[in-house]
Amino acid sequence: MTDFSSLTITSAINGLKNKEFTSQELVQFFIEKIKQNKHLNCFITHTFEQAIDMAKIADKRISAKNHRMLEGIPIGMKDLFCTNGIKTTAGSKILENFIPFYESTVSKNLWDSGAIMLGKTNMDEFAMGSANTTSFFGNVINPLKSFSNQKKDLVPGGSSGGSASAVSSGLCLGATGSDTGGSIRQPASFCGLVGLKPTYGRCSRFGMIAFASSLDQAGPIAQTVEDAALMLQCMTSFDEKDSTSSRNEIPNYLDYKNYRLKGKKIGIPKEYLIEGLNNEIKEVWDNCINWFKSEGAEIVDISLPHTESALPTYYIIAPAEASANLARYDGIRYGFRQKEKDLKDLYQKTRGLGFGKEVKRRLMIGTYVLSAGYYDAYYLKALKVRKLISKDFEEAFKICDLILTPTTPNVAFPIGEKQTDPIEMYLNDVLTVPASLAGLPAISVSSGFNKEKLPIGLQVIGKPFDEISILGAGNAIEKLRGF
Ligand code: GLN
Repeated sequence: MTDFSSLTITSAINGLKNKEFTSQELVQFFIEKIKQNKHLNCFITHTFEQAIDMAKIADKRISAKNHRMLEGIPIGMKDLFCTNGIKTTAGSKILENFIPFYESTVSKNLWDSGAIMLGKTNMDEFAMGSANTTSFFGNVINPLKSFSNQKKDLVPGGSSGGSASAVSSGLCLGATGSDTGGSIRQPASFCGLVGLKPTYGRCSRFGMIAFASSLDQAGPIAQTVEDAALMLQCMTSFDEKDSTSSRNEIPNYLDYKNYRLKGKKIGIPKEYLIEGLNNEIKEVWDNCINWFKSEGAEIVDISLPHTESALPTYYIIAPAEASANLARYDGIRYGFRQKEKDLKDLYQKTRGLGFGKEVKRRLMIGTYVLSAGYYDAYYLKALKVRKLISKDFEEAFKICDLILTPTTPNVAFPIGEKQTDPIEMYLNDVLTVPASLAGLPAISVSSGFNKEKLPIGLQVIGKPFDEISILGAGNAIEKLRGF
């Protein structure tokens, strides 16, 4: 069998067009590879038969020169996107056997663009986590290892860990993720990939299993900026079925290729130089500042004074919304049910057995901050601080075009670490949640390595709906990083 390991989405599209191989051959290759790499636990559900059927259709369309943008390209779909007739679990026991009878808009858009689904990727339960260790279906393993300890399995990041690990280990050409507080950018960073969280409202949330509705946003995880731009193009649409879906015109994201850093003002927020920031990450950040300067960008020091409050604000708002969103899992309408004679017992046992520890923790925090007496003290205050965080960005973007920061304070860590204290895990999100709270587009691009040869991602945050500029800056990083 031909080895397709070195393909990107872009090179696969060209290969298919030039008849170097067929989509069926591609799909067969990735099916084999997934089978050989089961230990990484990237997929919750395989959809191999459908994939082969879809590949046959793709090959016909390619022969007839009737191909669409992602015709014949095999991808992974995070198991948070409802797929018609295919089990969708959100990584939870409570949805272990849930088969939706409708399709999420984002996945529909991808199929309508010719993409092919190999399976549903593993994820933290209800997208709550930063290490992919909260899934009911087990931990996902990062295919990358630290140089000095090849035996220790590392986390792929979370919550889109299955997607990131699958793309990084070459089990598919790209994958979808969802990002509420960093779940696309952080795993992309840990697995040496590109992850893009679009502006809130850019991708439809219809059919995405909700975590925190005012923050959830779909986006691509891919090997290159170009692949991410292609996927994003196919994922976005205005959608009447999502009341927060944006009507802004969708640009041609490949126009990022015309973006030049020369003359652009790149903001460096001093508050992101946090105490726990790893030195090697700081070095890569500094390098990138110099690369950007060498391209003619102007570096400006900016301040985002409420950065420090972003994490506690996020960990009030996200659980509050989650507690409302997850109230629907009561054992009556969906998924798992623990049968009991008494209705109250049924509710309690179903939820008690159906949800994992992290989800229960969030639901308890969420209901607490929404309860009478604490609502004003926590939830309303958090909403006010969220406004201040948005204002910080608005002010900053008066004097800069883009903001450059690290994606995470640390690189991928061994499975089992940072697990004793939930706060330690939450600290992982300190650099990604501010853009989420402000609804801004942000990309993470692999920008260097530490001494252990583990990838380090940098984050570029843009103005609302300016995905092109963050892609452009990401593209510059790809060219300047020298690997
Ligand atoms: N790690 C964050 C959390 O656990 C963000 C997760 C996400 O973006 N879905 O909430």
